[in-house]
Amino acid sequence: MFRHKKAIIIGGGISGKLAARVLAEFFHEVIILERDQEPQGPHPRKGAPQGEHLHALLFAGANGLESLFPGITDTFHKSGAVKINSTQDLSWFHHGVWKVRFDGGYTTTLQTRPHLEWIIEQYMKRISNVTVQYNHSVKNYMYHEEENRIHGVETIDASGSIKTMNADLIVDASGVSSLSTSWLAKRGMQIPEEQVKIGLSYASKSFSLPESAERDWSIKLVYPHPPQEKIGGTISKVEGNRYMVTLIGYHNAINDKEVLQNEDSFIEIAQKLPNQDIYTEVKNAVPLSKTSIFRVPQITWKHVDQAKNFPEGLLLIGDTICRIDPVFGQGMSIAVLEALALQKLLQCQNKMLKEITTTFHKQEAKIIAPIWNMVITEDFRYPATSGKRPLGLTIQQWYAKNIFILSSQNQEIYHAFVKVMNLVSPITTLMNLKIVVKSVIKRSITK
Ligand SMILES: Cc1cc2nc3c(=O)[nH]c(=O)nc-3n(C[C@H](O)[C@H](O)[C@H](O)COP(=O)(O)OP(=O)(O)OC[C@H]3O[C@@H](n4cnc5c(N)ncnc54)[C@H](O)[C@@H]3O)c2cc1C
Repeated sequence: MFRHKKAIIIGGGISGKLAARVLAEFFHEVIILERDQEPQGPHPRKGAPQGEHLHALLFAGANGLESLFPGITDTFHKSGAVKINSTQDLSWFHHGVWKVRFDGGYTTTLQTRPHLEWIIEQYMKRISNVTVQYNHSVKNYMYHEEENRIHGVETIDASGSIKTMNADLIVDASGVSSLSTSWLAKRGMQIPEEQVKIGLSYASKSFSLPESAERDWSIKLVYPHPPQEKIGGTISKVEGNRYMVTLIGYHNAINDKEVLQNEDSFIEIAQKLPNQDIYTEVKNAVPLSKTSIFRVPQITWKHVDQAKNFPEGLLLIGDTICRIDPVFGQGMSIAVLEALALQKLLQCQNKMLKEITTTFHKQEAKIIAPIWNMVITEDFRYPATSGKRPLGLTIQQWYAKNIFILSSQNQEIYHAFVKVMNLVSPITTLMNLKIVVKSVIKRSITK
């Protein structure tokens, strides 16, 4: 017996799918409205153009997905995703030093985002009370002004026909282009937001690489050393025996137009990375795709938890709430953590939907806050980054830098750092006395 009748989810990306999976336990009927066409395989799609770029799945995301869809990790691997030892098979150049490599007992799955999403989609098809209506774009909300309650949506389909649908709960999982913010602003309900300008560009391309006995890694990260270096890159094995190469440039260091007009410029940018490792791999490799570009001029966190007079019946999740700097690979894992938080709240028998949405937005902020802080601490290493700086920025940057450097020498510290980066340990686990002492000693030696 379901406790609630009908939920509508706007957007069938990662957070829309995960929200549907969770709501299906508590709602008689769950409908996802997705403006894209139905995917016919693990291919990039128009509504999620970031899928052309490398997507890392952190431990928190992988563990959460497995708990929501038991067996999915195995399915990823059986379908071609690459299973690696997280600290042995990852070669990572960070702040001018290579991380120590060792068997830390963790595994990571390497795959493209379309492959990951496609497999989730197959699992979703087994849930009988979830339906997806493709080619349906939500244009407006249906609103009961006296009750300050959103009770439905207005959609337009591919033929231009408009229809309305009612529901007890509307979940906006439509990502950065969400209509909620402007819709609410028009009615005088402002959502306070934080914005940090980072001028980030992504350029990605897939390659076939010849076998090489020297290649002792499955994924290699070459991060820029800020503030001097602005360009970085990653090369990763993915399903289909391909390698995806993603180059990133902060503060407009990559000229997007040039990259799109001139295919050779991708290799030229790879040559500008802090070391030549990725360039050496790709300079004579066979390209399997054209270069794709994605721009993230700024990152944004909408504080729905602080919005006054927020309407009943609406819940915001995923990138709709926060687009974080994607270089740290956290977005999908945040979506997983949010879905799990929603599941836990819905399990409380005595809570009304209104209380659930209000509490959820507060919990969402608690999930995002430490991750946002960690990410912008790094972004603000560039003087051109603008926005609200975190408290104690200089000391945080000093401390983090020491952890990065110590992670190239000390397995224990790198291990602790890996767990924080993968969102399975709180950042406070890195604040231990041993690390502080090592950092201070290191600083006094290098003075
Ligand atoms: C360049 C880049 C690289 C990234 N790399 C990583 C990474 O390595 N690891 C990681 O975890 N995360 C990464 N992310 C973040 C990740 O892509 C997102 O956090 C994640 O996809 C969650 O997105 P979402 O489902 O909330 O939104 P989206 O993926 O944007 O999905 C929104 C969906 O809503 C649909 N939609 C939009 N408007 C409407 C409407 N009006 N009506 C109906 N449907 C609508 C869209 O078609 C789309 O399907 C990266 C992001 C970017 C930009």
